[in-house]
Amino acid sequence: MNKSVNLYIVVPCYNEEAVLPETSRQMLALFDEMKSDDLINEKSRIIFVDDGSKDKTWQIIDKLSDEYEEIGGIKLAHNAGHQNAVLAGLMTVMSDCDCAISIDADLQDDIHVIPEMVRKFIDGCEIVYGVRGKRDTDTAFKRSTAQGFYKVMKSLGADIIPNHADFRLMSQKALIEFSKFPERNLFLRGMVPLLGFKTDCVYYDRNERFAGESKYPLKKMISFALDGITSFSVKPISFITTLGFIVCVFAVVMGVYSVVQKFMGHTDAGWASLMMSIWFIGGVQLIALGLVGTYIGKIYSEVKRRPRFIIEEYKNDL
Ligand code: UDP
Ligand code: MG
Repeated sequence: MNKSVNLYIVVPCYNEEAVLPETSRQMLALFDEMKSDDLINEKSRIIFVDDGSKDKTWQIIDKLSDEYEEIGGIKLAHNAGHQNAVLAGLMTVMSDCDCAISIDADLQDDIHVIPEMVRKFIDGCEIVYGVRGKRDTDTAFKRSTAQGFYKVMKSLGADIIPNHADFRLMSQKALIEFSKFPERNLFLRGMVPLLGFKTDCVYYDRNERFAGESKYPLKKMISFALDGITSFSVKPISFITTLGFIVCVFAVVMGVYSVVQKFMGHTDAGWASLMMSIWFIGGVQLIALGLVGTYIGKIYSEVKRRPRFIIEEYKNDL
């Protein structure tokens, strides 16, 4: 492929009036550079997705798109959340672009690695992940919770790229396959690696938020993390079953102990039978709960209706 690329950049914005003028200025400058390097073509666009903002975000997007033909806007009717806003943007541009890049509005991700992403796309990558090198601009709390979260996700069997958020390039082909994932609880950074395809990473240092404040307070962060775990793993369910078996083993130990105590005359009437029942019933209940949970886990993966396979290439007119 040596023609220049039709690139769409998708930027989710929630109450971002403070950063939008600067973000659009920097992105337009980058677009000019990439156009003069013949990397992207004239039809390339920057699409701002207003995620039901309460401030002047949409008015700014509206004005910018009147002023510059490279800029476009999508206004969501209510605050649908970051992940849904990114998806709305990507699905809207899918049919027009060769590839699309999603990036936050706050300039925390370094837009100067975008040309490198596009070059990797030209070299045949279908997905290019932006990965943060250092995170010293994040608070120690955010850094350690994020690191812990990536570890938990890995140990639960989800294939996520450490230190990658939602700054990534996806080719049109990857987007089309991705559109076949109809699930409602989105955790994009866990879902995209499920696609497979040829992928690569670019590395950058994360900056501080250019202006305004984080739209991810602790409460949203926790619910996002829980969403990630419960959308990608049924291991917590099998943990209940394991716990049930452990309690049952304990019930046997307690049974022996209670009988010995009883025959040594150290117990009151009814103590031994009560002890044995409590442990045994507890274990059986946990195993039963785990068993029911296993079926719920299966129902869960059925209702997500994720594609069962993804075809990368056809040969010989198939
Ligand atoms: N965002 C959004 N909808 C929301 C919350 C956030 O579209 O409900 C956007 C926000 O405008 C920003 C991106 O998602 O472009 C990431 O949010 P933020 O920078 O506040 O998160 P942080 O970097 O602090 O994790
Ligand atoms: Mg941010």
